[in-house]
Amino acid sequence: QNSTTLQPLESTIPDSDRFRDSKPLKLTCPSCQHFFPFGGIQSSNNYQITHSGIRCLSCQFVLPPLSVSAQLESFLRTQISQYYAGWLHCDDCGITTRQVSVYGRRCIGISGKAYGCKGIMRYLYSDKALYNQLLYLQSCFDVDKAKKRALKPLYEEFSGDVSADDKENKPSVMSQGELDALVEQNRSLFEVYQGVVDNYLEDCGRRYVDMGGIFGFMSAFEK
Ligand SMILES: [Zn+2]
Ligand SMILES: [Zn+2]
Repeated sequence: QNSTTLQPLESTIPDSDRFRDSKPLKLTCPSCQHFFPFGGIQSSNNYQITHSGIRCLSCQFVLPPLSVSAQLESFLRTQISQYYAGWLHCDDCGITTRQVSVYGRRCIGISGKAYGCKGIMRYLYSDKALYNQLLYLQSCFDVDKAKKRALKPLYEEFSGDVSADDKENKPSVMSQGELDALVEQNRSLFEVYQGVVDNYLEDCGRRYVDMGGIFGFMSAFEK
């Protein structure tokens, strides 16, 4: 029942803010090897959504659904293994380690003996960051969000994912009619992709709500 109390609060934050630090899903075109960030049904200089899926604008090849879901799955596994690697980072001296101090979250310092630095170690990839990352991936295939133009924009002012060249050449905005048609044509396909994310989100969400929800989430507000 924790998830129902968490959701309304979190969902009031717009995706552009909530997913600010989420990493983009990058797809490789199997035909020409073009590697590009995918941000759902919105305008891009790299891909175009057609009635039959995602088309690479570099060679016009339509990415086969199996290729997209395999790449999505591989990206998900990478994120989850980075999370489980459990790297700790000190904001003060900048040391990054997997070694957990016997003094809890106290920085182990350069000496490794927990003196020399008064900093606090934090997980580089927190429960909350992973949970948000998975929600971000799920949102990329959310056609109803696309319809409302509520997806995290691919071409935002300060987005590090976009090259300077791309910022100057923003793609033209889709008309609502075009958007509505693409949403319905891709609804069932995108639901399949969301299902891939859901398999991971269910486990992560339970973990996040049970543990992070009670402790990590509270302490985030205290600081
Ligand atoms: Zn291509
Ligand atoms: Zn330190």
